[in-house]
Amino acid sequence: MNLPPAVIAALESVVGSGRVSTDAVDLEATSHDTWPLTTKWAMVGRHPNQADVLVHASWAHQIAPVLAIASREGIPVTVRALGSSVTGQPLPVRGGMVLDVSGIPASFELNERNFTVTASASYNGGDLEAEMQRRGLTLGMSPQSLHRSSVGGWLATLATGQFSSLYGGIEDLVVGYVVILATGETIVLSASPRAAMGPDLRQIFLGSEGTLGVITSVTLKVFPVAPAELVQTFTMPSVSAGLDFLRDQASKGLRPFLVRLYDLDEARHVMADESFSSPVLFVGTRGLPQVAEAEMNALTEIAERLGGAAIGPEGAQGWLERRYDFSTVEKRLATPGGFAETIEVAHDWDQLEGLHSALKEALAPLADEVLAHFSHVYCQGSSMYLILLGTLDGDAEAIERIEKIWETTMQICLDRGAELSHHHGGGLARSPYASRSLGSAHLVLRKLKAALDPEEILNPGKLGL
Ligand SMILES: Cc1cc2nc3c(=O)[nH]c(=O)nc-3n(C[C@H](O)[C@H](O)[C@H](O)COP(=O)(O)OP(=O)(O)OC[C@H]3O[C@@H](n4cnc5c(N)ncnc54)[C@H](O)[C@@H]3O)c2cc1C
Repeated sequence: MNLPPAVIAALESVVGSGRVSTDAVDLEATSHDTWPLTTKWAMVGRHPNQADVLVHASWAHQIAPVLAIASREGIPVTVRALGSSVTGQPLPVRGGMVLDVSGIPASFELNERNFTVTASASYNGGDLEAEMQRRGLTLGMSPQSLHRSSVGGWLATLATGQFSSLYGGIEDLVVGYVVILATGETIVLSASPRAAMGPDLRQIFLGSEGTLGVITSVTLKVFPVAPAELVQTFTMPSVSAGLDFLRDQASKGLRPFLVRLYDLDEARHVMADESFSSPVLFVGTRGLPQVAEAEMNALTEIAERLGGAAIGPEGAQGWLERRYDFSTVEKRLATPGGFAETIEVAHDWDQLEGLHSALKEALAPLADEVLAHFSHVYCQGSSMYLILLGTLDGDAEAIERIEKIWETTMQICLDRGAELSHHHGGGLARSPYASRSLGSAHLVLRKLKAALDPEEILNPGKLGL
């Protein structure tokens, strides 16, 4: 739809005249994110998810009046931060407005006594971590996209970091935050260090993908940088033995900061050795020197009992140094006809090995390579992360293939009762499956949506809403 000039003028009066754009190039640029499918769409000039207007917020206090205009005029609003979503979360499926919050100035306030930091939601995660490191602290949150995602984005997507076994996911790391509702109210949510005054309302907006409110400020935990760190690499005789290791160490209450198991196909990639002949396991411990050492000894004992063999720290150390690298996927996508996809799911221990075998078998005909690793481990089960790589005759074929890969993977996960997403969220990729995945609980999401966003302006068409 073409927005009336009066609406554009009203938006400009809030954010400034240079901060509202209906330019085709700007609208095309916000019609894709980092989802491989939309990257491929952009390469062939397909921009199906375009807004009618792009609004750059300069300050958090501009968000409520912008939402008021959108509510009054019935304009859908899709919030966009740093656009690192890999599932199409910040793409406007019903036109309207993309509200870009990434230009809101980054500021933070550290409370070293309480081990908390309060930052603007737009803060680049890597920049905030660097500020903390300069002070001998860490956020404990280290997604692969650390340097290309915002702290508000972490909450909105229920993100988790590569060291989740020690620190937990964002749900464990968030102390409180401020969110603006579509109706304009500012809500401050906090429970520090813990509160039992009714339900923990902080959970409601975590993972809501911009469908329930706009987060403007976030308070996170911080931790002193550990004085000691040890890493080790083990070969494991099979995926089955590797999974037994993951389960066993979790059940014993060990908390390595690093624990990643690669199946044979991905082991060859991660070890950069085509002749590597077994699954590989990376582990790392952190803390007081005596604790890090004792935990590493305990982990070694478990691995060896299960047929593992330590081969030195280099494999794990090399991964730590390359851990933000996404170039394998980016390069393949940039190749004509090339495709790449990453899909993360989760399941319980008694189902995980079967899920791994079923997905590998079903996806093998659809890609040149199907790689898998297990990297977020809980007492009850683990995530499983698939990487698919392939090359076809052209980009149109590559696009169809990515769609087929998603359909196949989601159907197998639904049939086997797996969690459809461990941390990349629903977005466009999984919205069609959201209500089947959540089952009866989807009703609660629909009721929350109706109560908090009665005009249904916020990020419509996501999470099956
Ligand atoms: C190379 C790569 C590696 C990745 N690794 C990880 C990983 O290890 N762990 C992980 O969890 N994810 C990972 N991701 C996914 C992605 O980085 C996260 O989902 C991240 O949290 C998105 O943040 P963003 O600022 O880029 O948000 P965007 O992509 O801009 O937006 C994502 C969603 O959040 C909403 N949103 C963003 N900001 C706000 C706000 N202030 N208020 C309300 N809604 C908001 C948007 O509407 C959208 O629905 C990876 C992505 C890439 C490209």
